Amino acid sequence: MLKGKTALVTGSTSGIGLGIAKALARQGAHIVLNGFGDATGPQAEVEAIAAAHGARVAFHGADMSRPAEIEAMMTFAAGRFGQVDILVNNAGIQHVAPVQDFPPERWDAVIAINLSSAFHTSRLALPAMRAANWGRIINVASVHGLVASAEKVAYVASKHAIVGLTKVIALENATTGVTCNAICPGWVLTPLVQKQVDAKAAANGWTNEEATRQLLGEKEPSMQFTTPEELGELAVFFCSPAAGNVRGVAWNMDGGWAAQ
Ligand code: NAD
Repeated sequence: MLKGKTALVTGSTSGIGLGIAKALARQGAHIVLNGFGDATGPQAEVEAIAAAHGARVAFHGADMSRPAEIEAMMTFAAGRFGQVDILVNNAGIQHVAPVQDFPPERWDAVIAINLSSAFHTSRLALPAMRAANWGRIINVASVHGLVASAEKVAYVASKHAIVGLTKVIALENATTGVTCNAICPGWVLTPLVQKQVDAKAAANGWTNEEATRQLLGEKEPSMQFTTPEELGELAVFFCSPAAGNVRGVAWNMDGGWAAQ
């Protein structure tokens, strides 16, 4: 379905971003990966899928908190594949503390990576998408873009804000073939969430299983994690012709979390 298109997925060396990159590669899109850590393993996994569908993969290690590096990544992607047709703003970090104890530099980092990076990638990708009259911007927000939890002030603020950014981009391009939508997952068992399970286990003397059950039980009625594979399929749907008039939605995949 996406043969000849190019997808750039930020924060795709791990977790949800890697799941979305694989799902888009399965549809034949060329993939630009991004993120921290050793990219060799994730890149090889995506390359194996892409090669089976005649697509190619590249990697750029831009730090999403640095606008100049984001610009270099967008130039690199356009140079390698012509242009970015599908932009998935996924890179994100978390910090957990009450407002009065929240370190200001952590606030700045969460806002820069979770929110401002999506403004920069979008402003740089939109001219070519609009010229082609086709484009997909998919923002990985969170159920925390719809409802709040205590001790996550920067995260909740950044995710509510990226839902707003999503709506503005959708409106400004509503008469074109460029759509912009947000995905709002509940709990997904990635390194970002495992850290929170570990903190609960350590604080309460629980096993990993007890801490996991507690974490799910507090928020997610299904008592099940959403998976990167399921989120990848939702991203594929947003790229499909059937989703051509889906504009500005914040689509939760959260086991019933926001329905409460
Ligand atoms: P993860 O920690 O597994 O992956 C995060 C990715 O972002 C990694 O590839 C990491 O290298 C990259 N990254 C972090 N800081 C970066 C930076 N400054 N520049 C470039 N890359 C950077 O986390 P995840 O759970 O897969 O989270 C991905 C997205 O999904 C985030 O935006 C997160 O807020 C969102 N989300 C996660 C959950 C969940 O339960 N895991 C739920 C809702 C939303």
